[in-house]
Amino acid sequence: MDNIIEVKNVTYEYVDDNLTHSAVKDFSLAVERGSFTVILGHNGSGKSTLAKLINGLYKPTKGDVIVDGMNTKDELYETEIKRRVGMVFQNPDNQLIASIVEEDVAFGPENLGIEPDEIRKRVDESLKAVDMYEFVKSTPHHLSGGQKQRIAIAGIIAMQPDCIVLDEPTAMLDPKGRKEIINTILKLNREKNITVILITHYMEEAENADRVVVMNDGAIIADSTPKRIFSDVEMLKSVGLDVPQTTELLYSLKKNGFDVSTDVISIKEAADAIEKALHLEEK
Ligand code: ADP
Repeated sequence: MDNIIEVKNVTYEYVDDNLTHSAVKDFSLAVERGSFTVILGHNGSGKSTLAKLINGLYKPTKGDVIVDGMNTKDELYETEIKRRVGMVFQNPDNQLIASIVEEDVAFGPENLGIEPDEIRKRVDESLKAVDMYEFVKSTPHHLSGGQKQRIAIAGIIAMQPDCIVLDEPTAMLDPKGRKEIINTILKLNREKNITVILITHYMEEAENADRVVVMNDGAIIADSTPKRIFSDVEMLKSVGLDVPQTTELLYSLKKNGFDVSTDVISIKEAADAIEKALHLEEK
């Protein structure tokens, strides 16, 4: 398997007033190139720490993180790893620097020392990739949260990363903005083959992932397809995750003796599953 990221037996300790606290514990995870992985977990489970370990912002206390064959502990690779693994954070306002959209998107490639003609090309392509090209001359300040976050993503794309790690990119957005971001991420993964690691505590956002990794207390407690993960309601509840309403409904029906399939995600799938079960009952 061609893994772009390999986290090998990593422990990360924060030190506070001489007290050490392990946010990630003997953690191992390999991410396949071109895949879309969702890391799910409630607050404090270690997701952000993992994200920062993956792009080399934090170095493991124990173990190794290998990005495309490069160890994040090796200072020689620091810049290259940061370029290859782009990070998108929660608050779009903290990520936008310039007063004009195109200048903002150009900021990353400028820092990499890319030629002006090539920068122009990348800025335009990146804005098109996130469906924000019409705002090329706009002021980010006037845009919606979802639009600003898409500009932040364009700024990362302009550095031509192999992988993007998004740390709760929708947490500050309304449902419309949230949808825009999820659709954008999906498109970048499917059309540009960018490896995506999406960190979230919204289960609904895991629907289109290839793989869902559930974290609790700095460790992996489940790692499977979205359908399998969604159907394990007991596990999800035990780690404090809110189960989508469709899953909750089917789970209750099943618990009350109704012979219905629980490995569904969308509203349409849920409706179909209920209809099927009703027909079976009638027979
Ligand atoms: P998540 O992203 O899942 O909310 P984090 O990685 O932010 O989890 O945090 C994991 C654990 O590490 C939590 O217990 C948190 O309190 C602790 N932690 C996070 N950042 C720091 C820090 N800067 N100093 C000390 N402890 C921290």
